[in-house]
Amino acid sequence: MLVLKTINHIQNHLSNSGKTVGFVPTMGALHQGHISLIEKARNECELVVASIFVNPTQFNVKADLDKYPITIEADMDKLIAAGCDVLFLPEVEEIYPTEESRISHLDLGYLNEAYEAAARPGHFDGVAIVVKRLLDIVRPDKLYMGQKDFQQFLVVRKLIEAYNMKVDLVRCPIVREPDGLAMSSRNVRLTGDFRTAAGEFNKQLFRIKENTGKVPLSELVAAATEKLNSNPLISVSYLDAVDGQTLLPVQQMTDADEVAVVAAIDVDGVHLLDNVIIS
Ligand code: AMP
Repeated sequence: MLVLKTINHIQNHLSNSGKTVGFVPTMGALHQGHISLIEKARNECELVVASIFVNPTQFNVKADLDKYPITIEADMDKLIAAGCDVLFLPEVEEIYPTEESRISHLDLGYLNEAYEAAARPGHFDGVAIVVKRLLDIVRPDKLYMGQKDFQQFLVVRKLIEAYNMKVDLVRCPIVREPDGLAMSSRNVRLTGDFRTAAGEFNKQLFRIKENTGKVPLSELVAAATEKLNSNPLISVSYLDAVDGQTLLPVQQMTDADEVAVVAAIDVDGVHLLDNVIIS
């Protein structure tokens, strides 16, 4: 695997390759969820490019940026094992050479108000600006992103549409731990009873999916929220049925072509995201 740190190097390498390029942007601390994206890209593209860049503009709390786990050696071993061809590993100055380059000019509308955006002002602007920058540099044919970060996926789709970018956005399924907890670099911060409690999160979401069509959607959502909140170790941040294309709330299954339940809980100060598509 080639490790390239500058825009010049990666563009020289990719521009003359004549191969279809699949791109997987990450912030490192890789787990099997990330690796599943690499594997999908490996199956579908001739050249697989991953990036590891802990993007400062998407952290609205500096302390979170400072404590983001860096495990670069282990990450590289995993990428090599999964068949990644090129790792783009830029410094912050390479991505953001000026103050102006840190500013997003894309109006994300509702996606910048709801759910994850409400608690983290500026977060999705930071996501949009870094993905735009990375896509302009790598110019992949296919971009692989996880369904796990449902709102982020819609932000990136909006970005691609807004700038009319020529890239196929591929939504990759959520990879889970043996008890069903969605894999996340945050999971290592959960121990003992807190970790056990977190295992109930996905079960409640899948219960909604199983009972869809049998019980009214609003009742299923209310019951899952109540069940999770009844555990003193869990606090539900949000749990809503939404239109999977717009993220707007839906009342019933007929309100949208794709209905998803998006949710976040807080367990011992760790913010966990999950979702299920129920139609
Ligand atoms: P991150 O490094 O957290 O920014 O994640 C990089 C990419 O991996 C994003 O597209 C995420 O949605 C995706 N991802 C993270 N966790 C999972 C998971 N458990 N299953 C599938 N994809 C994931």
